Amino acid sequence: MEDCIFCKIINKQIPSKIVFEDDEMLAFEDINPQAPVHILIIPKEHYASLNEIPEEKKAILGNIVMRARKIAAEKGLKENGYRIVLNTLRDAGQDVFHIHFHLLGGRKMMWPPG
Ligand code: AMP
Ligand code: ZN
Repeated sequence: MEDCIFCKIINKQIPSKIVFEDDEMLAFEDINPQAPVHILIIPKEHYASLNEIPEEKKAILGNIVMRARKIAAEKGLKENGYRIVLNTLRDAGQDVFHIHFHLLGGRKMMWPPG
């Protein structure tokens, strides 16, 4: 996707602090962190939101969540916990329309979210 900022990050046209990369996903630090640890994890294939993920591609969702768990452990969050967030469209506050999971941790968080 030409105009997608996260596709540009995947293609290294825009710099990012990469935490993990393989053939199907990229994890990188959020540019405006909302917690001591704030990492975005995205599939390399462009899908605007969860709504666009086809049934046959559902494995990527589990793979990303399991990778988020691994990164959380590497960042020392396993004991105290962490939050994985998947904002979908406007009511949830999705701003970038390339599906991304947020991994947040390192501080106590509130519930319910605002
Ligand atoms: P959302 O509101 O769920 O769509 O989240 C979009 C996230 O992308 C926000 O937390 C932004 O801080 C983050 N973001 C936007 N541009 C960049 C960028 N160039 N590098 C890293 N994170 C970004
Ligand atoms: Zn994209």
